[in-house]
Amino acid sequence: MKFNYSTHFKNCVQSVKEEGRYRYFAQLERIVGSFPNAIYTSPEGKRKNVKIWCGNDYLGMGQHPKVLAAAQDAIEKCGAGAGGTRNISGTTTYHVELEECVADLHNKEAGLVFSSGYVANEGTLSTLGKLMPGCVIFSDELNHASMVHGIRSSKCQKFIFKHNNLDHLEYLLKQVDINLPKIIAFESVYSMEGDIAPIEEIADLAEKYNALTYIDEVHAVGIYGNRGGGVVDERGLMDRIDIIEGTFGKCYGSMGGFITGDAAVLDAIRCYASGFIFTTSLPPATLAASRAAVDHLKESQEERRVLHENVALLKGLLRKSGLKFYDGDTHIIPLIVGEPTCCREVTNILLDEYNIYVQPINYPTVPRGTERLRLTASCVHTKEDIHYLAEVLEHLWIHNHVFNEVKNIEDIEKLKVCV
Ligand SMILES: *Cc1c(COP(=O)(O)O)cnc(C)c1O
Repeated sequence: MKFNYSTHFKNCVQSVKEEGRYRYFAQLERIVGSFPNAIYTSPEGKRKNVKIWCGNDYLGMGQHPKVLAAAQDAIEKCGAGAGGTRNISGTTTYHVELEECVADLHNKEAGLVFSSGYVANEGTLSTLGKLMPGCVIFSDELNHASMVHGIRSSKCQKFIFKHNNLDHLEYLLKQVDINLPKIIAFESVYSMEGDIAPIEEIADLAEKYNALTYIDEVHAVGIYGNRGGGVVDERGLMDRIDIIEGTFGKCYGSMGGFITGDAAVLDAIRCYASGFIFTTSLPPATLAASRAAVDHLKESQEERRVLHENVALLKGLLRKSGLKFYDGDTHIIPLIVGEPTCCREVTNILLDEYNIYVQPINYPTVPRGTERLRLTASCVHTKEDIHYLAEVLEHLWIHNHVFNEVKNIEDIEKLKVCV
């Protein structure tokens, strides 16, 4: 029988649907000047106002007047695109200055800007691995897909250590010849758990076993540290980490990824990383927006202060309502549902009846059985927004039949073990 392409792909999607993890994208237009409000367009074409409760623009920089002015200025002066790859006519003053700006953010010799945080992780880890023959990579089991793919395409031997588990990491480090090159790759703030790695202790192990350290600070840059340098900045550990990776796409409100580190290492990545070399470089307006946001957050404490205040308020209200969430001491609040269909149903109710938009987080983004609502307060949510969300969630959890089946509300600690 001839291979039927159409049937094949329909079946692929069908199995995802049966598991309740088909991806429905919510169509949104954010409204400048009134974030986190957005216009939502339903599949039937109906438009209405909603509040976004799952965005990553934690500090509202995507609508900040300085950021918008910088982008507008750049687009007027230099046009829409960069006009080439970095190597062939696409390196602008905006690229050079933004790289200096992030190097300064992390007190490192050099910075390198990529199309996105994903590309930065994938490109850097795969290239580091390929450039060091015999290299062994140690990777936290909850590392982001972009790191996982980078490590995979490095073709290095890899060891996955249990999430934030120092004993397991050391046990694995001991298995490898001390003279071989090694990389420990981990995150500071884990994006779906909202917890923080034991960064200093990992750096100690790296020193003991002579490993290079690579940290993803995507959910921490801008938010932690007096200048927004991330958790490594807040804890005074920047000089203990070899390569720090971040994004402009989350709390800097724009787009693009970056790494910072020693000039020699970054020069090598610049010369070898395919995902850095063979692609059109980011547009000036995007880079100018990122630069304005990073500069602003090196100085201003106000956005961070309000964010942390809002997060504390929301956590307090959820606790008072008896709703259990992972409290990893960060701004990310994962409210566990534990089942994909139910997770989707509750988000539908929130959107349809309460104009609250929270995207359900299902497998493979998180392990099966730990499906969740990942709530993200921002500094542009009002106290009224927060009270309203907490009241609605309490009401749904207590009164809605959807949750009668949910096994893990009581069992959250047990679930945490399986994460
Ligand atoms: C979102 C994310 C990335 C990718 O960053 P983008 O700039 O969105 O491509 C990398 N790492 C983590 C932990 C993330 O959550």
